[in-house]
Amino acid sequence: MTYVQDTIAALATTPGAAGVAIIRLSGPAAPQIGERIAGGLAQPRRAQLASLSDASGARIDRGLTLLFPAPHSFTGEDIVEFHCHGGRVVPQLVLSAALDLGARLAEPGEFSLRAFFNDKLDLAQAEAIADLVNAGSESAARAALRSMEGAFSNHVQALNQQLIALRVEVEAGLDFPEEELELLDPKRLVPQFNDWRKQCTDLLSSAQRGRALRDGLSVVIAGPPNAGKSSLLNRLTGYEAAIVTEIPGTTRDTVKEQLDLDGLPLEIIDTAGLRSSDDPIEAEGMRRARAVQQKADRVLWLGDIREGLAHAEQLAETECEPDTYSIVLNKVDLSSDVPGAAAPNVIKVSALTGAGMEALVEHLKSLAGYASGADGSFTARSRHVRALETALTRVDAAERRVEEGALELAAEELRLAQESINAITGEYTSDDLLGEIFSSFCIGK
Ligand code: GDP
Repeated sequence: MTYVQDTIAALATTPGAAGVAIIRLSGPAAPQIGERIAGGLAQPRRAQLASLSDASGARIDRGLTLLFPAPHSFTGEDIVEFHCHGGRVVPQLVLSAALDLGARLAEPGEFSLRAFFNDKLDLAQAEAIADLVNAGSESAARAALRSMEGAFSNHVQALNQQLIALRVEVEAGLDFPEEELELLDPKRLVPQFNDWRKQCTDLLSSAQRGRALRDGLSVVIAGPPNAGKSSLLNRLTGYEAAIVTEIPGTTRDTVKEQLDLDGLPLEIIDTAGLRSSDDPIEAEGMRRARAVQQKADRVLWLGDIREGLAHAEQLAETECEPDTYSIVLNKVDLSSDVPGAAAPNVIKVSALTGAGMEALVEHLKSLAGYASGADGSFTARSRHVRALETALTRVDAAERRVEEGALELAAEELRLAQESINAITGEYTSDDLLGEIFSSFCIGK
């Protein structure tokens, strides 16, 4: 994506009947075009009532004009805004007037792209604007606002600074071989590596929650046959989406459901009972179940409460990656236990009666950073999560290289880690990626 410094114009509000519509111009010719349309220009950052006319001088509307001279504007360029009446005709006439007078219709996201190129915001902040506009819940909107104001970027920059410090230490060993002996003592850099890893892991979990806030949470219901997986899915969705029977192994394929938990998008996937079987169809169902499980944000591992927590935990530990699951003990109606949250990641429910379901829903919301009111939360995207994961892997590799005394290779791993981290804020970002990100914005943003 290249930055051509011409003048762009777009309708910044939704087309159609509305009290007010806003047409926005950005670029060197914006003040001059604005002056032609409004018959004079407002003082910088002051709204002024004006009669708006087209290129031939015919009147279109009465509206407000605003001028934001460069560089103190959203894009960093001269910006002119017209606030006219909404509807199908008037805003289009104002926009056409701007185009007739030399402006070009803006591409989707082009205003934000210019702001990015002019260092008004970094890439993560620009993405947060789109996330704010598209937020599906109040929590997601608040989190997007924090990202837009730099909460996420600040953490990323801190990680970057620490990486630079590590690189300096390692590269000093390369430049001054006589000091290498001291550097080769791998223990010397251990605290620095550990500290970085801790910060990055913390940021990664926040980013994962931020991603769930933005994209919703995908949850897999897994567990042994007859634990009540289909019943739980039906209870959650409120209707019969999966077949419930008493014959083990009925759910042979995966069943997906999209739910909305107070604005949090939730995708729930019911999987075939995980057990060994000679039946080829059931075996295929189980293969898919495992594949889906690995991609999900969380596994709800279901167990029959009568078999006990330890039994369920043991099975979950064998089938799932550590820290990726919550234990749901079902059929609490058949026991004397109290339904609800029993431990941080253990919930007792009855899919049959609905007991304990509120606690389960709260648990799901908190996994998505949703219920916490989440003062420190921010939105993040999959690409941010991947970048942090890559950086962590690189830094692990760098530490191993330091231990082996291969300082040159360690320095290279650290450089790659830094590149990955910087891609989040857009310092090292390919044109293709920029194009992909900004073209998903709406026009006028
Ligand atoms: P799946 O194989 O894990 O999908 O299990 P199902 O949802 O098909 O349920 C297996 C059996 O357990 C069915 O007879 C359900 O009616 C029964 N069941 C499921 N949940 C509960 C529950 O909370 N309480 C009781 N008493 N029975 C349940």
